[in-house]
Amino acid sequence: MGCQMNKLDSELVLSQLTQMGYELTEDADEAGVMIYNTCSVRQHAEDKVISKIGQLKKRHAERKDLTLAVIGCMAQRQGTQMAAENPHVDIICGPGQIHQLGEKIQQHQADRRPVVIKNSRADLDRLEELDATRQIFDQQAPFSAYVRVIRGCSKFCHFCVVPFTRGLEHSRPIDNVFEETKKLVHQGVKEITLLGQTVNSYHFVNGRSYNLADVMERIHDLDGLERIRFVTNYPCDFHPEIMEAMASLPKACEYLHMPAQHGSDAVLKRMNRHYDRGHYVDLIAKYRETVPDIAIASDIIVGYSGETEAEFTETMSLLEEIRFKNNYIFQYSVRPKTQADRDLDLPDDVPREVKKRRNHQLLELQNKIAKEDNQRFIGQSVEILVEGPSKKPHLNAVGDTPITKATLYDTQEDQQKSLHSIGNLTNQKSEVTSQESDTPQLVGRTRGDYIVVFNGPKTLAGQLINVTIHKASAVTLFGQLA
Ligand code: SAH
Repeated sequence: MGCQMNKLDSELVLSQLTQMGYELTEDADEAGVMIYNTCSVRQHAEDKVISKIGQLKKRHAERKDLTLAVIGCMAQRQGTQMAAENPHVDIICGPGQIHQLGEKIQQHQADRRPVVIKNSRADLDRLEELDATRQIFDQQAPFSAYVRVIRGCSKFCHFCVVPFTRGLEHSRPIDNVFEETKKLVHQGVKEITLLGQTVNSYHFVNGRSYNLADVMERIHDLDGLERIRFVTNYPCDFHPEIMEAMASLPKACEYLHMPAQHGSDAVLKRMNRHYDRGHYVDLIAKYRETVPDIAIASDIIVGYSGETEAEFTETMSLLEEIRFKNNYIFQYSVRPKTQADRDLDLPDDVPREVKKRRNHQLLELQNKIAKEDNQRFIGQSVEILVEGPSKKPHLNAVGDTPITKATLYDTQEDQQKSLHSIGNLTNQKSEVTSQESDTPQLVGRTRGDYIVVFNGPKTLAGQLINVTIHKASAVTLFGQLA
């Protein structure tokens, strides 16, 4: 669950345990160790974990040899309390201690004593080791990997729990980032995404100072590496070198995830974001001037403390002004320890129904904009990195793909059902090809991070190929092999 950092942490844990001799199983009944990697960024994410853990009580009582571990930001945030309320959880481990997880699991399997792993001073060095010794075990996309460049965050946005769960910002040594990337590329990775909560704040001093553009330049010429991305950007730390590196380095992709969070100056101020709308708009204009065809993505919060209808309307108008490729839209929930939690002037006072409605309005607008803008791809040949078969096949025939889960069909059957329920689709039925065929539906991504689905042989997975786009919805482009 959670952000890219969590996905990377899960990979690191998998790599650590696999190297210790453990094997991954798809079958929960077979598992001797179950690990939940949790997220704290919104209350909803925590509620889901609590419910999942609750469901495991019975299994844990029946299976005396099971070790249940909860890791991630929630484990960090409420470790002791979680242990008290859920005695069936055996190991609790925050993101800064995952290097200790393997040995604690072994220990628990021997003595069955529950443990809440504590912070220690040596953690940072040992975490570096964990990153350095990792191997790729993500069989779903072994050619694409995250590499952390910054741990933690020191921005203290008033809504955000990250500094309290992942600690303060710390840039990793550039040599370590390079060595890790080199190893991954030797293992066959073609696309590297450099990670940080505020990745563009990267600042490492060793004789001279290095920023993110230096990291990109340093890894750029590794043989076999095809694409470089970086997320997430913070609008205040502007280094023109990063933008110029994006424009000049052939492997740097034209994709910028730069959360705006809001369109109103007053709300940005209450959020402690340290920039205003004008700054954000100018920044994006600079990027668009320097990096042709750059795709801009963002995060938006609705229903933050005191958000009036007029302020909300400013976020709507920001979407229209910028015309983002996509937006991750979140309904505000107050997080413990944050300034908004402690400050009586920042109450969580927007009613749930209002948050929901505003969320929906923004999604609809974003959907409309993206669908309009994506039509420009029709007839174009685009380069994609093929990820593999589409897990939840899309229906080529459906032109209107709203940004909701409903666009992804769980089964072929659902796809067929929806085909029959939507009128005016005759003749297009043949576009749905079984995933068992020689040319199942595959998914890939463009340099701008647009999702492309097309039919082709599975052997294309991991390759850079060109497809011609013949249809475009708000979130998906539909292509054909050239
Ligand atoms: N470091 C990133 C944010 C990481 S959290 C940045 O500074 O932009 C990912 C997203 O979750 C945030 O961008 C924000 O949009 C959302 N988010 C964070 N805290 C939230 C909260 N308390 N309620 C709702 N959404 C939140």
